[in-house]
Formats: sequence, structure tokens, C-alpha cells
Amino acid sequence: MARYTDAVCRLCRRENQKLFLKGDRCFTEKCALERRAYAPGQHGQGRSKASEYGTQLREKQKAKRYYGLLESQFRSYFELASKRKGQTGENLLAILESRLDNVVYRLGFAMSRPEARQLVLHGHFTVNGRKVNIPSFLVKPGMTIALKDSSKSLDKIKNNIEANSFRKAPKWLEYDANALSAKVVGIPLKEDIDLPIEEHLIVELYSK
Ligand code: SF4
Repeated sequence: MARYTDAVCRLCRRENQKLFLKGDRCFTEKCALERRAYAPGQHGQGRSKASEYGTQLREKQKAKRYYGLLESQFRSYFELASKRKGQTGENLLAILESRLDNVVYRLGFAMSRPEARQLVLHGHFTVNGRKVNIPSFLVKPGMTIALKDSSKSLDKIKNNIEANSFRKAPKWLEYDANALSAKVVGIPLKEDIDLPIEEHLIVELYSK
């Protein structure tokens, strides 16, 4: 699966919003957006007022970048969301939140979604007792996600868990801090999502 490999801070500067792609650094004054709060490139400092289309496009780009997706994958999630019952925008958010890499991040095993993706790729997690190393794997109610026993002693993960101990797992994940596992007990709702995404703008964009 192709993915974005350029400097990620450029993405935040392009969206003029912190996307929290670099873990700890995002909370310090080293954050590129703190130091250069304008879009990258030659014309970055001359932002003009966005058109309706431009606003919708930026919202879609922002959501895509939060979750580290390329256009084709994001679009396929939109198609899937539009086939489900209910509101397409909210379905889309629920699908994005259900990705295994996002779940690993929301449970505090990683400092950022890109780091969570790496941890999943390296096979540190199981779903219902079986190793799953696919970041895009979609979890469903009833499934249990757990840190593998052999990964519990890794300093990196232990440090992340400690640093994120103040974060609460979302309501749809029942976290067991002793077992370092979580059961999916519901579908992610809009209010469970910690990102400022106006999903109706994305629906409007793709409905043109
Ligand atoms: Fe974005 Fe984090 Fe880079 Fe700041 S440090 S620009 S929030 S990725």
C-alpha cells in the first residue's frame, strides 16, 4: 500500500492546523506550525479566502491526513460509508475510527497515528488472539484488541503507555489496563472522535 513519505509537518502547515503526526514534538515549541504558521512553498504566506469548493476540499484533505490515507483509500471508505444505513458522513467517521492503527493510537500505545501504524505493521497486536499486522483492518463490536505478550516489555511501548496514561479510551472501547487489551463495545459516534472534522463538507464535496 502506497503512502505519503514526505515531511509530515508540511501537511499541518498546508491545512493550517495541527494534525499531531509527530507525537511529543507536536506539543512543544519545536512544532513547525508554531514556528511557521503559514502554508509551505513560495506562495504560502499569501493565503486567499477559500471558495466553497476550496473549503470542502481542505476538509477532506485534513481528514485524510489525520488518518494517514491516500486519496484512493479515503474514497473507498466514502463509498463504503455511503452504502451503509444512516448518515454517510457519520458512517465515514466511524469507519476511519475503526481502523486498527487508529485504535492502537486511541488506546495510548502510540504517540501518534503514524507511530501506531508502524507498531501494527511490526506485528505487536492481536485481534481476538490472532496477530494482525494490517493497519487498515477494521475492528467490529465484540472483537478484542491486545498488545502481544512478547511486546509488553518493549521500552518504547511501555513509555508510550505511561506518557498517555492521562488519556481516556473512547466509550466504544472497553480498556483493560492490566491486560493491555480492549474490547470493542460499540460503534464510534461523532462525539467520540477527538478530531475537528466537519464531515458534511466531505459529503458535499464527493456528491458534486
Ligand atoms: Fe504537525 Fe506535529 Fe509537525 Fe506540529 S510537530 S507541524 S502538529 S506534525
